[in-house]
Amino acid sequence: MLEKVVIANRGEIALRILRACRELGIKTVAVHSTADYSLKHVLLADESVCIGPPPSAQSYLNMPAIISAAEVTDSVAIHPGYGFLSENADFAERVERSGFIFIGPKPETIRLMGDKVSAIRVMKQHGVPCVPGSDGPLSDDPDENLRIARDIGYPVIIKAAGGGGGRGMRVVHSEASLLNAINITQAEALAAFGNNQVYMEKYLERPRHIEFQILADHYGNVIHLGERDCSLQRRHQKVIEEAPAPGITARQRRIMGERCVEACRAVGYRSAGTLEFLYQDGEFYFIEMNTRIQVEHPVTEMVTGIDIVKAQLLIAAGEKLPYVQSDVQIRGHAIECRINAEDAKTFMPSPGPIRLWHAPGGPGIRVDSHIYSGYNVPPHYDSLIGKIIAHGDTRETAIARMKNALAEMVIEGIKTNVPLHQEIFNHAAFRSGGLDIHYLERRLGLR
Ligand code: ADP
Repeated sequence: MLEKVVIANRGEIALRILRACRELGIKTVAVHSTADYSLKHVLLADESVCIGPPPSAQSYLNMPAIISAAEVTDSVAIHPGYGFLSENADFAERVERSGFIFIGPKPETIRLMGDKVSAIRVMKQHGVPCVPGSDGPLSDDPDENLRIARDIGYPVIIKAAGGGGGRGMRVVHSEASLLNAINITQAEALAAFGNNQVYMEKYLERPRHIEFQILADHYGNVIHLGERDCSLQRRHQKVIEEAPAPGITARQRRIMGERCVEACRAVGYRSAGTLEFLYQDGEFYFIEMNTRIQVEHPVTEMVTGIDIVKAQLLIAAGEKLPYVQSDVQIRGHAIECRINAEDAKTFMPSPGPIRLWHAPGGPGIRVDSHIYSGYNVPPHYDSLIGKIIAHGDTRETAIARMKNALAEMVIEGIKTNVPLHQEIFNHAAFRSGGLDIHYLERRLGLR
């Protein structure tokens, strides 16, 4: 087993990783910025190292500082969590070259999947359905690009190969604006991601976002843990996630799950990973792969009973996957609400001191949060302050439990998006399930 692990992240996911380490008897090292001395996992960790000032670029993205922290504490591995350096292939490479285990896939896999054009190419090669689109990056030939768009049919979307976080995309509705849109997206992609390659896809008008969770070890054993529906989004940011996805049949799950597993086995994938799809009119279309743990992993844990973070640690330690596909059974339904420190109407961040925090509880309720009464939410980072997960035998029970939990919990001192969640759970459309990715913005009057 790994003896000591550096947790190279903050907030709720750092605490989640700490808890998994503790269960396995692994010692923990928290690395944190000067704004984060009072984070819960920093207080609980066996050791902690301050790695820089509040701005992420100088702390949580500071590769030499994090690797030095692993050296001075005699750690053996680094868990990157999500965000920050979790999908940075150069970081993974530097971690390994310095003699530590990077808890995630191989650097070359991260690089392959980080470029969306190469990710789509390899998925297509291995039988995973993709959105109809250009075969690879667009060239500088205007006639060729016009022809590709005509073949696909408008509307199309121009996307940056190196894009992420919902940036570097542009929808084109007619031929008149195509060439200009390509030029602008290329220029933006170069400025934002240092790579001007763009590609073209059919723009799907009312898709759902459905993703498959994968676990793979070092020995070619790969399984899937079913799917999640993450269609409730604002500005491409997920707000509510659930598992399983409403209306997806066991047969669809098996067929798509097997395809994902085959593709991951073919590329030598290891650790946890997620294949993201758009789903429309009964068809799945791969859009990208995330090569790390995801914010919404708990809904899958609740319906499968499998601890994904513990699995990551065991896999990194070189252990064989302790499950085969037939061990994975989907039981009941789970829903997650992301709780953000922000105004529920304007979405303006609302950092500051939490005067009172009272966590919800009861059957089927899980709270993944690092906050406590007296904790001061710093203004420097993402506004996520926790996640409430509700599990029940049926989707209706999970919703009823979530509504109770939201009504019970108390957060005083800062504003949160809890009122938005409460409103969503009262929509008849949400209760029937299967909403598309634009529903929330339409409902909020943003579209
Ligand atoms: P990122 O890495 O920035 O998250 P994705 O490729 O995952 O980029 O796309 C982000 C979001 O953009 C998707 O969840 C979806 O809302 C929208 N999107 C991307 N591609 C398409 C498409 N072909 N048709 C419709 N919407 C799309």
